[in-house]
Amino acid sequence: MYAIKLELKLNNKERTKLAQHAGYSRFVYNYALGLYNQLDHQEFKQSASKKLDTIKKLFTNYRKKEKESQWCNKLSSRVYQNAFIALKNAFSRFFKGISGYPKFKRKKNNCSFTVDSSNGKVLLPAGKKIKIPTMGTFRLKEALRESYVSQTFTISKIADKWYVSLAVEAEKIPPLYHEIIKPIGIDLGVKTFATLSDGSKIESPMPYRKAKTKLADFQFQNRKKQLGNRKLGIKTSHNARKYLKKLAKKSAKVANVRADFLQKTTTNLCKKYAHLRIENLNIKGMMANHKLAGAIADLGAYEFKRQLFYKAECFGTKVDVIDQWYPSSKGCSNCGAIKSNLTLSDRIFKCDECAFEEDRDFNASIRLEKAPEEAVVNRVGYTRINACGQVRADSLGRNRK
Ligand SMILES: [Zn+2]
Repeated sequence: MYAIKLELKLNNKERTKLAQHAGYSRFVYNYALGLYNQLDHQEFKQSASKKLDTIKKLFTNYRKKEKESQWCNKLSSRVYQNAFIALKNAFSRFFKGISGYPKFKRKKNNCSFTVDSSNGKVLLPAGKKIKIPTMGTFRLKEALRESYVSQTFTISKIADKWYVSLAVEAEKIPPLYHEIIKPIGIDLGVKTFATLSDGSKIESPMPYRKAKTKLADFQFQNRKKQLGNRKLGIKTSHNARKYLKKLAKKSAKVANVRADFLQKTTTNLCKKYAHLRIENLNIKGMMANHKLAGAIADLGAYEFKRQLFYKAECFGTKVDVIDQWYPSSKGCSNCGAIKSNLTLSDRIFKCDECAFEEDRDFNASIRLEKAPEEAVVNRVGYTRINACGQVRADSLGRNRK
């Protein structure tokens, strides 16, 4: 499965309709979370999911039927079904320790909702229009190039634009032949985004850095605007509102540059290479180091790997994940000697044993390429390809990280 996100081309009436549904989704989510928080958890020793089922019954049978809730009944009921699913997922992520306790959604930054087709998957024919279950037909900014099959549709507003995203079956991707078959190590760095052991480098995009500096300037210039504070009862000034709208647009632009860079980079890597080897980054440890935190958090090493893994499966690229404790930067790629006194500021690796000298990141990428089998802690994309180089239908959904 992979996701596609399409921009919708809307008139004012359609915009209002989508905003109403997003409001409905937020209302249901907050209602359920509010009730959940009020429960006496000492007394009800059920799972969060069971408790939410009870709350859902309450909503369907009572709250939804009240007079002041009449507006709900004019909107798609799939919205509230999916809002409950989203809240259940939020709690499950919380209990697994992946994310924090679910928060109330606010209009300011949560303008999205999900609908699905209750009769299973629907066919979306290629073209400039998309039929979204229970919502109707909408125009697309860019035409769908081929037909897709999907069941769940998430509609979201980012700055002033509306998007629909849908999960699509991976079988749709045609088999690909890779230009480079031999294993290639990738070293993710701070200065250069990625260094590959075939000698190529991927630089972080300049427009992104520029846009980010501009954004910081813009925030600084507007630092005295009265932004408002709910707890202190301070209202947001009119000028601050205008500023926040502009800021949202600018932030979205920066985020788009970043998303675009990561998407293109991961796709290109998986298309070009048949076998990649990457370090299992200790992201938490790196984030604790302030100097590294900014640069790494920025270009999303975590997001990079997430995309690389799922695309590897789609494109039939094998990815070996190398143990984070395997000395990639500290080892000499020529003789294998380990250098214990290598600091972060050393940009050149100089071996004390064999006098080998090489760019630090390039040395690390070769070390990853040559890492022994026992240093491999995870393998992605191994089961997907059959002898003809096609994605095996029976392997769909397996070996997913
Ligand atoms: Zn050496």
